[in-house]
Amino acid sequence: MELKNLPSVDEVLKDSRIQSLEKVYARHLIVQAVRDELDVLRAEIMGSGIRLTRDEARERVVVEVVHRLNTLHQGSLKKVINATGVVLHTNLGRAPLSLETAEHIAGLAQGYCNLEMDLEEGKRGSRYQHLESMIVSLTGAEAALVVNNNAAAVLLVLNTLAKGREVIVSRGQLVEIGGSFRIPEIMALSGAKLVEVGTTNKTYLSDFEQAVSPDTALLLAVHTSNYRIVGFTHEIPLRELVGLGCRLELPVVQDLGSGCLVDLSPWGLEAEPTVQECIKEGVDLVTFSGDKLLGGPQAGIIVGKKHLIDAMKRNHLLRALRVDKLTISGLEAVLGGYLSGEPQNKIPVLHMLTRDPADLEVTADGLCRAIREELQDWDGQLDVRVIELKDKVGGGAYPLQELPGYGVEIALGFDPGRLVYRLRTLEPALLPRIKEGAIIISVRTLQAGEADLIPGLLRRALEAL
Ligand SMILES: *Cc1c(COP(=O)(O)O)cnc(C)c1O
Repeated sequence: MELKNLPSVDEVLKDSRIQSLEKVYARHLIVQAVRDELDVLRAEIMGSGIRLTRDEARERVVVEVVHRLNTLHQGSLKKVINATGVVLHTNLGRAPLSLETAEHIAGLAQGYCNLEMDLEEGKRGSRYQHLESMIVSLTGAEAALVVNNNAAAVLLVLNTLAKGREVIVSRGQLVEIGGSFRIPEIMALSGAKLVEVGTTNKTYLSDFEQAVSPDTALLLAVHTSNYRIVGFTHEIPLRELVGLGCRLELPVVQDLGSGCLVDLSPWGLEAEPTVQECIKEGVDLVTFSGDKLLGGPQAGIIVGKKHLIDAMKRNHLLRALRVDKLTISGLEAVLGGYLSGEPQNKIPVLHMLTRDPADLEVTADGLCRAIREELQDWDGQLDVRVIELKDKVGGGAYPLQELPGYGVEIALGFDPGRLVYRLRTLEPALLPRIKEGAIIISVRTLQAGEADLIPGLLRRALEAL
């Protein structure tokens, strides 16, 4: 038993490395960390019988305390350079915001604001009125409401209009979207009863007509954002569903998911229905995300008929789904970018999706040269070259779409696993694409200034192998 060599709490606290922690952390947290690490070491000595001198034991505890405090209390969100070429990467926080949007948020966050005050009247106002006129003028809808995310938007719509009643949905549209959004589960949580009609690949209007009962509350269409059923298929055109809803006096709701406000087909993307088109078709309510193709902060947007939106504003569930001032200010700046008429220059997501492949090639050329220069020590071992790529939209949108892009391939001649791990654990982290024996840096998803950091990050990761 070597427990006699275990240092005292006071002895550890006297170490200069521990003392310098006092500038960053409260003293009681440091003392607790020292106690915890002494316990760990005591258990280890008693368990495995390792022998340590007094100096070794103190050194171990000091190093572990510094590590414990730095990992526990520094926050775990880290900056990541997305070199995957997937624009809306759900695991990487979906839409990045522009500097202008971030500054607009910061400006409002640093003080008080009129979140719930009508400054004209000097009376209590509503947080929901801030974005409504902007959204209405962009979409052509009568009214709008913003909540925490699109899952919340669908939940609120179903709970308000269909609690205790039936909602008819095509079997081909019972989607699951990344991060466990499932139509049947949201339906159950809302208190509405799901009535599935048709088959996985084919649903006709007659299937809906036959399922209608006195208990039917609404007809739901869900955009199959992240997959396509191809081949022998039939889905009901939105216009026909709207016709049926009109005839039966039932609201028709479209969960659009991505919620694009601009037609991206001039840039070679497949035609996806925009929010405005759905409203024009006569849909009563449309729900969509703020942080997918719209390119804003996490939010769920509901647009449509005023009497339905008003009913949702009266639902007490809204209190639990409400957005805060940071989200409202971020969306305000992003929607302002759309109102300016050149959203593809103002909104990073749209900019990345509409970039000219020739520009991407120029960026990839420059990056390739910089990487070759920085990695001269590995000359002859690594093969660095510019390649053509197929990038992705991501975020459950345009599942089949491939965007012609460019990148830099670094052929390693060994399994990239350890290098990729090193890159992922640097600060900022670098997330490349992985291929057999190689990594690829797609330039489409790099943000301003990030390309300059990449050669140095690659060098550090290679040196640490
Ligand atoms: C993404 C998506 C959702 C979920 O939206 P969140 O904003 O992630 O909550 C719901 N429905 C569809 C069709 C989607 O594509």
